[in-house]
Parts: sequence; structure tokens; C-alpha cells
Amino acid sequence: MERTDGIDVVECERCPALVDCRSRIVNGHGPVDADVALVGEAPGANEDREGRPFVGRSGDVLDEALGAAGIPRETVRIINCVRCRPPDNRDPHEEELANCRPYLDAEVDAVDPEALVTLGKVPAEHLLDRSVGVTDEAGEVYDARIAGAPRRVVVSVHPAATLYDPSQREALDRALERAADLAGESESGQSRLGEF
Ligand code: SF4
Repeated sequence: MERTDGIDVVECERCPALVDCRSRIVNGHGPVDADVALVGEAPGANEDREGRPFVGRSGDVLDEALGAAGIPRETVRIINCVRCRPPDNRDPHEEELANCRPYLDAEVDAVDPEALVTLGKVPAEHLLDRSVGVTDEAGEVYDARIAGAPRRVVVSVHPAATLYDPSQREALDRALERAADLAGESESGQSRLGEF
């Protein structure tokens, strides 16, 4: 049984292992017309409890880094590749990523952001469909086709990586500054994705 309310998923049981683990479906959060959309991997324990993506320590790091880049958190849309918490915080399986992809595609299509920032390896590889070295590639902008439309994808490390390795903060900052540039170009009318 699947049921949606606009871009929110209300009921879904496509991933049995995640259905068993979750306490709720964690939908995207933030303005539905955001210029910048952040794409995370999956809800963790805090997100599962509170029903919002990127809360807890990772969320605090993200908020601070967004502020430093001049992008207030309340202006960004935050979405996860899968909306239900995987057991033991494992990575989502390929099948689970595929099960949830139509919801992600529909949300990206509806929000229509100028930049999609992938937070960590799983979302980067999911959207770019290749192997990605997130530290080396942080701040790089790639063209991708998502739900049939051209999108700009900015690779970033996961905010939590900076908690374990402070040197990763520079990579996170680089990516968010690049996203701010793309959003700013859009506001000044310079931006445009070509058809490809
Ligand atoms: S992760 Fe996505 S596809 Fe899987 S059960 Fe949750 S909402 Fe459904």
C-alpha cells in the first residue's frame, strides 16, 4: 500500500527491512521552491525520532556551515535518498534506493532547485550513477539528468564527517559556497543549464 500527499509519502511498505526498523517516514523538509536542495542518504536515529532530516549533531554542523556560506537553513529543501531508517545505520541497499527513487525524483521535479548538493558518498553515487570520491570532488559541479530534466549536482562530504575529521570541514564549506554561487547566479539571471 502506497499513499502520497503531494511530495510527501504518507504510507509505503516497499522496503520490508526499513519498514521493520522505522518509527515513521521522514519526508523532505524546507521550502518547496528552494533554490538549493540538499540530498542526504537516509534518516538516522534522531531523524527517525523527530521526523525531520538532518537533526542532532550532524544537523548542527550543517546549520552552521550553511550559515557560513550565506545560505540560511530555512531557505533550503532537505531530502533523503531513502525516507525510512535502515537498521543499525547501515547504508541503504541498491534495491531500497531504487524503491524510493520515484519519490526523490518527484520531489526534485517539484522543487526545481538551481543546485542539488549531495551530502556524502551514497547520494553522490546515487544521483551521478558512478563511483565518487567525495573529499576530492567536494565543490565540483556536474550535470545530471534527474527525472528527465537537466540538474546541477554539487558533490559534498557528509556533515558528520567533519565531527570525526575536522579537516573535512574545508570540503563541506567548498561545496556549500559553490551551491550559494549557483543560487546567486540564478537570482542575478546568469544561470542557465543548457539542454544536454
Ligand atoms: S525507504 Fe522509501 S520506498 Fe522504502 S519503504 Fe520507505 S518510503 Fe517506501
